[in-house]
Amino acid sequence: MDKKEISRKASENGLLLSSAALERIADEGLDCEAIFRKAKESGEWFVKPELVDEEAKSKAPVCEGAAESVKGEGRPPACDMPSRLVIYEDSDVSGKSTCSGTIEDFVGYFNARYENLRRVLLERAEYRSAMNIDALRKGSPKEKARIIAMVREKREGKNKGNRFLEVEDQTGELTVLLSDKSEAMGGVWDRVLPDEVLGFEGVLRGDLFIASEVNQPDIPLNHVRRYADEDVYAVFLSDVHVGSYLFLEKEFQSFIEWLNGRGSRQDIAWRVKYVFVAGDLVDGIGIYPGQEKELTMPDVVKQYEFLSMLLSEIPPHIEVVLSMGNHDAVRNAEPQPKVARDLALRLYEMPNVHVVGNPIRLSAHGVEFLIYHGTSLDTIIGGISGCSYSRPETAMVELLKRRHLAPTYGSDSLSPENRDYMFIDDVPDVFHCGHVHTNGYTLYRGVNVINSGTWQAKTAYQERLGHQPTPALVPVMNLQNHEVTMLDFNGDGRGD
Ligand code: FE
Ligand code: ZN
Repeated sequence: MDKKEISRKASENGLLLSSAALERIADEGLDCEAIFRKAKESGEWFVKPELVDEEAKSKAPVCEGAAESVKGEGRPPACDMPSRLVIYEDSDVSGKSTCSGTIEDFVGYFNARYENLRRVLLERAEYRSAMNIDALRKGSPKEKARIIAMVREKREGKNKGNRFLEVEDQTGELTVLLSDKSEAMGGVWDRVLPDEVLGFEGVLRGDLFIASEVNQPDIPLNHVRRYADEDVYAVFLSDVHVGSYLFLEKEFQSFIEWLNGRGSRQDIAWRVKYVFVAGDLVDGIGIYPGQEKELTMPDVVKQYEFLSMLLSEIPPHIEVVLSMGNHDAVRNAEPQPKVARDLALRLYEMPNVHVVGNPIRLSAHGVEFLIYHGTSLDTIIGGISGCSYSRPETAMVELLKRRHLAPTYGSDSLSPENRDYMFIDDVPDVFHCGHVHTNGYTLYRGVNVINSGTWQAKTAYQERLGHQPTPALVPVMNLQNHEVTMLDFNGDGRGD
């Protein structure tokens, strides 16, 4: 089986292959199906060389030198591919923030949020006849009805097992009882978050709506994926944290070297046309108490300047998109506008670098991307059982199901704009986050869900919380067939 075939099989199984694992499976002719089965059984999404080791024990020794450093020669094909990058300006809050903190801002924001999510639910045939709460009360139909409402509160009744949701729409409020039947549909109660918009099917009995079915807006099952028409790659980065004494400069340098055709997998490096960075470009200053002791550069302008120096080594035919995170020198509340020009002048002056807000929508070679730093993943991981810091992709899927990047207003630091920038409107082909400093990957209803990890070694804070960061692992995606490969720039930094 050749490498293409092996990668295709991996992606069919929702798995990522490390490039070293791929080389070994191909070179040693190992049974990839058995390896993938084993990976899935042990709940892994990333096939590491260790997994291949087990399979290879009975086989011939490793073919050494497969990933030997190669000095780039010739001309990268990506040089001759015209850039096809479209950054959707309307998805970027930069320069457009309307929020002044008035009560009208909040009302306007909540209305926009509700209307957007309601529209998604109305696309489902069964919700076309959904009633508003006022009409439901007035009509008090005997038979089943459907409503679309925002959750205000979760509450458990005195009688054990009675679970209520206080919900509302623009016309009124209602108490919903989650019946055993709706509970049977996958533990709805455990997953409901305050402020999320849900569809309910059930019957009205007096003042109580007894729900038999609960639906999230979700990604439609018929989402049609878009592919590039040529062999071209995008690279995903996040949480670079330049300025932190834990920034892995050497590893980051080997990544840049790799983009220049020095290292293994030159076949990929030379077809890279896009590098996307999902925020936390720098470590910032004053982000948490005592941070100054952990900085090598206690000046944010210097931090951005150093980043621009590193990025200036990226070949100019590669487009670099820099989005923001909670460590960047912009407001904390999301959506975040891009960093001011005078704080990051050098970055603004680079012709192949695009500084944008967070979140951001863009299209590259016809493939649609949603890039979001991921601050709300903390709320999701803390609030939904089954989501953890070691598997950020599961929390990212929860955002997709809610079609919203910050489902809980109170926990996530949000700015009530007159438009809901956090709403996931058109379904992307790739959903890219960072923030948790751990790589993750899954395929959810045709959407490639990628968390791009970090370039910062484990901080004291992460040590205390028991988090395991996965620095210097870089997901790259072939936009022609959506195959994602993980490159490892740890150790000798060969990119395998
Ligand atoms: Fe970070
Ligand atoms: Zn962050």
